[in-house]
Amino acid sequence: MLLKNSKIIVIKIGSSLLVDKKKKIRKKWLSEFAKDVQKLKSKNQKVIIVSSGAIALGCIKMNYDKKNLKLDKSQAVASIGQIELMNLFSEIFLKHKLNISQILLTLEDTEERRRSLNAKRTFENLLELGFIPVVNENDTIATSEIKYGDNDRLASRVAQITNADTLILLSDVDGLYDKNPKIFKNAKLIKKVENLNKDLKNINFKGNNEFGSGGMNTKIEAAKICLLSGCDMIIANGLYSNPIDKIIKNNNCTLFISKTSKLDARKKWIISSVSPKGELIIDDGAKKALANGKSLLAAGIIKVFGKFKKGDHVKILDKSKNECARGLSSFASDEISKILGHHSKEIGKILGYISKSEVIHKDDMVEI
Ligand code: GLU
Repeated sequence: MLLKNSKIIVIKIGSSLLVDKKKKIRKKWLSEFAKDVQKLKSKNQKVIIVSSGAIALGCIKMNYDKKNLKLDKSQAVASIGQIELMNLFSEIFLKHKLNISQILLTLEDTEERRRSLNAKRTFENLLELGFIPVVNENDTIATSEIKYGDNDRLASRVAQITNADTLILLSDVDGLYDKNPKIFKNAKLIKKVENLNKDLKNINFKGNNEFGSGGMNTKIEAAKICLLSGCDMIIANGLYSNPIDKIIKNNNCTLFISKTSKLDARKKWIISSVSPKGELIIDDGAKKALANGKSLLAAGIIKVFGKFKKGDHVKILDKSKNECARGLSSFASDEISKILGHHSKEIGKILGYISKSEVIHKDDMVEI
């Protein structure tokens, strides 16, 4: 049975579930949802909620139209709406004897190791205290380059950080279809995805935006992060009442099954970064060495792309631009452009200072 063995479950709620097309807040739905959460809790399953809706609720309060908002104004509206959102959760969840807490995250909080560990500990403590963390992006300070912008990927990173077993993305579609269900009557719901890259090739993404590049895209990106970090993911329709109960009973959703990952927590964090800062193109010799668990040396690097600092996440690609690994660089991009192709012994002389001999140490790298 779905969710039966999940000890930690992250559930993401989209704005369209909290606010209907007439801009009415769906309090009854939230109350039914709270019952679902309580049911999970009574089975000793821990729940974390990632909820959108700050901007939508801020717009209702201010009588604004979301479409006409400029970035800085929308940040102010998010600040107004976030408190509305938490009041809504608090009021309704308390009726079901559920205590909630608020966690606001930015991209940097999950991408920087120390900050992500701090967040992890806070999540753990809250769950231990029996509280339900309700997470949103800190829209009030996140600007475009340091912003998730969608709660699907944020939720997948929260699932990875908290070592969750399942992430449920509740949206307004039943799941992933083989073609756009709004255009093609014979579109079929894909119930199980076991090999994401292979299965994606059989999907016709053409059609309207909503299906192709909008909503579904960030959900697939979220699935990639989850699967790499050993967490299953479900896309399901949340518009019904008691959506979680319906998932368990009807199984009318898409389940992305993760192969149990043997990676340790730090490596899972490395592999599921949402914002690698650069790319290193490596030669065949280095590719072979990496496959044998060796570190990446300057001699095997052909090209460097992007501007990054020491310690930043980078992608490692082979000559045909296939991603073969990810890691934390021990050198900044401008240093790498000077030392690439050179023997490690020459690095000190080229840079004029003593440094590490590996560009990415094997402990800081994960093969894909
Ligand atoms: N953080 C945004 C909000 O609360 C929503 C982002 C999203 O919908 O994915 O309004």
